[in-house]
Amino acid sequence: MKKILHINLNNKKVKTVHQYDECKINLNGDNLVFEAPPLAGYGVVGLNRLSVYNKTSLSQSGSHFAHFMKCNGYDYLIFEDKSDYPVYVYIDKENISIKEATHIYNEDYESIHTSLKKELENDKIEIATVGMAGINNVDFAKIIFRNNKSCGKDGLGKLMATKNLKAIVLKNQENLMPHDNDKFKKYNQLIAQRIINNNKIDWYDENNSCYGCCLNCKNTAIDKIQSYGFNLEEAKNINKWSDFYGMDSVTLAQGIDTYKKTFDTEIIDLNYFIQNIINNYDYYRPLFIKENTKIKKKKNSDSGEKLGFCKILLQKNILSEKEKKILVKCILGLNIAI
Ligand code: SF4
Repeated sequence: MKKILHINLNNKKVKTVHQYDECKINLNGDNLVFEAPPLAGYGVVGLNRLSVYNKTSLSQSGSHFAHFMKCNGYDYLIFEDKSDYPVYVYIDKENISIKEATHIYNEDYESIHTSLKKELENDKIEIATVGMAGINNVDFAKIIFRNNKSCGKDGLGKLMATKNLKAIVLKNQENLMPHDNDKFKKYNQLIAQRIINNNKIDWYDENNSCYGCCLNCKNTAIDKIQSYGFNLEEAKNINKWSDFYGMDSVTLAQGIDTYKKTFDTEIIDLNYFIQNIINNYDYYRPLFIKENTKIKKKKNSDSGEKLGFCKILLQKNILSEKEKKILVKCILGLNIAI
């Protein structure tokens, strides 16, 4: 059974539903779905993949968000309709509040995180938010998580902002308890050893970019930005401002490159230029139209991906099919189709 939290942002009604695993998620209208994988929440090393989607687009990211969704008791969060005014949703297990977000509407991730920790009188929160790019309808706006992880550049960040949903806030809760804790610990050690054989590492350090993983993979965006002819320092600068405003850095780099070539000019003040793009996006939009853009749709993944491991870890063959089945059984106490 999966536990689904439906939040209607228009009438502010909240409903929790239990649904059989085989039943489809309601993707009607412009519903925006956050999905945590079945084994998230227990503290499995390297298991953190979050899926965010609507009926046409899918985006996935490692982060700490999926883990704390499950620790709050939810496999899915579904946001329906749109609010008339900016809101954020605070989830503390069964206590769900939809709160006004006008005071954080124009803020970036770090400022929002600081403000909400104070407002909610809790330092232990996990947030997903949209930045200035999203609220100004930039097509390649992202949803931003802790440590600059993000997803949703193909329309989902914009959709979240269109719903006037500035942020989703999860109270950090204790890990879920696996069915067979001793066996679980054994398998967790096995996974850790196969990823990197060093038992001095803190897999659960808050500063790790992905929950339960110490690899902190290099940001591939910098290389992609450089492929548009920017040097390393310029690429880092583009990436920094993209994170600040909540937009995809590679699409931004491509647009800046087109602008420079079209008008045969250099950009002196990148921050000022990006602000201009955001504030006059209709004018600048043609710079960012990508050819042959393929919107990703939800598709069946392999068994390891379904459980919630990232592709990079799966390439390390961290678990055989038989071991995956045992891991599922010792956590959930039952077999699920993977
Ligand atoms: S291998 Fe990289 S992408 Fe995968 S969970 Fe670890 S840090 Fe994240």
